[in-house]
Parts: sequence; C-alpha cells; structure tokens
Amino acid sequence: MDIFYHSTRNKNERVTASQAILKGLADDGGLFVPETMPVLDRSIEELCGLSYREVAFNVMKLFLTDYTEEELKDCINKAYDSKFDTDEIAPITYADGAYYLELFHGATIAFKDMALSILPHLMTKAAKKNELKEEIVILTATSGDTGKAALAGFADVPGTKIIVFYPKDGVSPVQEKQMVTQKGANTHVIGIKANFDMAQSGVKAMFNNKELAKRMKEAGFVFSSANSINIGRLIPQVCYYVYSYVKLLNDGRIAKGDKINVVVPTGNFGNILAAYYAKLIGTPIDRLICASNINKVLFDFFNTGTYDKNREFVITSSPSMDILISSNLERLIYRICGEDCEKTSELMKALSENGSYDIDDTMKQGLSSFFSGFADEEETAKTIKDLYNRTGYVIDTHTAVAAKVYNEYVKKTGDKTVSIIASTASPYKFARSVLTAIRADYNELNDIELIDELEKISNTKVPKAIDDIRNAAVLHNTVCQAEKMQEEVEKYLGL
Ligand SMILES: *Cc1c(COP(=O)(O)O)cnc(C)c1O
Repeated sequence: MDIFYHSTRNKNERVTASQAILKGLADDGGLFVPETMPVLDRSIEELCGLSYREVAFNVMKLFLTDYTEEELKDCINKAYDSKFDTDEIAPITYADGAYYLELFHGATIAFKDMALSILPHLMTKAAKKNELKEEIVILTATSGDTGKAALAGFADVPGTKIIVFYPKDGVSPVQEKQMVTQKGANTHVIGIKANFDMAQSGVKAMFNNKELAKRMKEAGFVFSSANSINIGRLIPQVCYYVYSYVKLLNDGRIAKGDKINVVVPTGNFGNILAAYYAKLIGTPIDRLICASNINKVLFDFFNTGTYDKNREFVITSSPSMDILISSNLERLIYRICGEDCEKTSELMKALSENGSYDIDDTMKQGLSSFFSGFADEEETAKTIKDLYNRTGYVIDTHTAVAAKVYNEYVKKTGDKTVSIIASTASPYKFARSVLTAIRADYNELNDIELIDELEKISNTKVPKAIDDIRNAAVLHNTVCQAEKMQEEVEKYLGL
C-alpha cells in the first residue's frame, strides 16, 4: 500500500514520503502526517532474532513507500554502521527494575543520532527521486543535541548546506564545544542570545517566509529541516521501539503477547510520538509515560487538558528538554481530535496567538494511554545518585528525569508491566551534572578530570565523541540576537 502524507492543518496538499522529507514542514505551517497509519506486515515472532538494521527495514518500508527496497536498505546500511560503538546499535541494560534502551551509541552520543545518521541519506535520495535542482539548506534550531547530530550527519554531504542555531547560554559545555568545533565546508553554527523556543520560532518563521523562499530559489537554494518536525526524523525513531520489544521477547524477558510500557524523557515530543506510532502500527505497547523536567508544560497539559506556554522558562541540567513549545504534540492533537485539520489549525492558531489552548473531553479520552510526570533538579540528581549507589549504573540527567517519573508511576499505580526507559544521552555529555549528583565535591575537578573520573566510576570507555573534542579547534564563533537570524542566513548564503 502506498502511503501519502498531508499537513495536520489541511488534507489537500498530498505528497509522497520523499517529498515530505524534502520539505520538512508543510506550506501551511502544519506537520506532515501519514494519510493512513500502516500496520506491521510481519508478526512480532517473525521479527524475533532480526538485527537492528533488519527490524528498521521492516518498519521504515511501511512508511516510506516511494523508496525502493534497495534504496532503503542502502540508507540503513550507511547509517547504522561502525559510527555506532556497538554492533547492537541500541543495546538494552537492566538496572533496578527497568530496562534502559541506550540510544546514545552513535557519533554524537545522544539519541538524535538514531535518526540523524539516516536522514541525510534519505534526503539525498529524495532529492534525486524528485529531480530537485536546488541545493538543500538544512535549517535547524537545537536545544543542544539535534544540532551536533545534524551537523555530523550532513557535514560534507554533496548538494547540502547546514545552518544550526543554538541558545548561546542554554546548552551544556560539551554540547557547545561539539558544535563549534564541527568541521565541513558546508556547515555553519550560530549561537543566539535567546532560548530554544525562540530559536525554533525563528526557524519556523523562515520556513514560512514566501518572499525569502522566492529569493532562495532564484539563488539556487531550498530549505529543509532536520528537526523532529521532519517525518524523516520521526520514522527512523519508530524503529527502535519495535526493536526493543522484539529484543526483550527474543531474550526471554517477556512472553509472547505481553505488553510493555515505554518511558520517554520529553522535550519537543518527537521521541515519545515515535513510541506512540510504534504502538499504532501494532507493537504491543501499553502505557506511554511522558517525563518532563521542571519546564512541565506537557505534564500540565496531560493533567488538565490545557496547554499553556505562558510561564517562566527555566534552564535546567537537562537542557535538551528545556522547551515550552513541543512542536510534535501537534501530531498527537491531530490524531485525538479525529484527524480534524480545521480543529488542529484552530488550536495551533490559539497557541501562536495566545500561547495556550484547551482540549475538550472527547479529545482528552484520546490521551488515555499516556501517563505524565515531571522531575525537578533535586529529584533528578537524587535519581542519578540512588541508581548509581544501588547498581553502579550511571545515567545522564535526561534519562534520570524519566527514571524518576517511572519510579513514581510504579508507586502510584502498582503497575509492574515490563518497562523500557529511553536512555537519550551518554552521561559523558553531561559529566559535571552527573558526577556532582553522585558526589558534591566532584565539582572541584576540571572538565578533563571529570571525564576521567566518570570513566573510572562507571566502568565504561570514554566515547570517541568526547576524545574528539578535547583538543579540537573552535571553528564557529558567530553569535547574534534572535531578531537577526534571517539576516545571518542571508549573509551565509550570499542572498
Ligand atoms: C532531544 C532530547 C530529548 C527530548 O526529545 P524530544 O524528541 O525533543 O522530546 C531528551 N533527551 C535528550 C538527551 C535529547 O537530546
């Protein structure tokens, strides 16, 4: 069955998967969604024992139907290779009552690599398929991890340029160093004096600027997105939830027909939406547990039915979740209002005009498989420390937010269903926060000493991504105000 995509805000613009990947965002500002949700065409038992790549193929072929089998396999093989430091790609570690799905074994040690290793391949094939004449300009706003993963994926990919905006004072030192040392003649990194939401709004405004698009086209450029608004990010993320179920079954951790719960530390709502899609295509997933840090706009939404971004923006030790406008929630809204584009547009208009919207009771019923919780800074640190003391396993700050919410879920509900916690970043990426959570006096160590100490206490090898930046030269030092984002883009592209 061929799957087409249309905007969450209007069903008239119908595109193929490869066209949706090229465009990133629909013309009306909505997000592309599949016209019909496919279902797994092989049973879970048939998928048992397959490698990550094979499972990924069986999932992606359902959604990306205008790619040939050969094209998809080629993309998958190029993406999930020795860039990952483990053959399993996404290994699972059991610790203290939960299974941690480690999604940080790729080139930039955050889960964003799972999708951004393959997106450039999907995109360059899409450009060929659609006989695109223009050079693709990837325009990305990052809360810290997407930026580096996208830069690593697109660096020196022919026919592309990549521009990344990050909040200058809103990312960890390792995240910033990773980005500003990025090599590749087609890469451009800009710090902005604003938070992630403003970076994301600025990028969305450029996508929607028709006059800019016209001048871009005349100069031989076209924008696309590497943010999780792009279905080329979302679909590869569905794969690891299917894979984790298959792996648990294969390893005898669950029995045939058992359901599992999935816990996801959430910011832009991309990763947990992928888990929801995995459930919709037939993976036996029961509850989806959405974990926020103290920027708990999603927790409030799930518990009250009101989405309200009008609140203080707090910078936390889990910066990749410091977000008040969770873009991908629009895809869930679309789904729970009965795939009603008018209703979705209305709510999104309210969000952009007033910063808030309410959903009605019927829509609330659509949220029944979700549970939501949050962790403040103290709880996050305590979770890291307690888990380490009990098991020796070290998790990063984002994953700790999820672990705290999971513990709370079990306490509240008594639900002992086998659960997967999405482990979204390596602790090495947030070494200072992680180590000082374990012992306050670690704060006296410098950044290099911290890495060495983490290696010792966690009994894991320092990832290549960290070694690479230790002595790397800073290659990008542009900083601008949020209002100047477009000016910077025009300057870089010579418009
Ligand atoms: C991006 C990110 C998240 C949040 O994922 P979303 O898809 O934006 O919800 C959580 N943890 C880490 C480490 C991340 O990089």
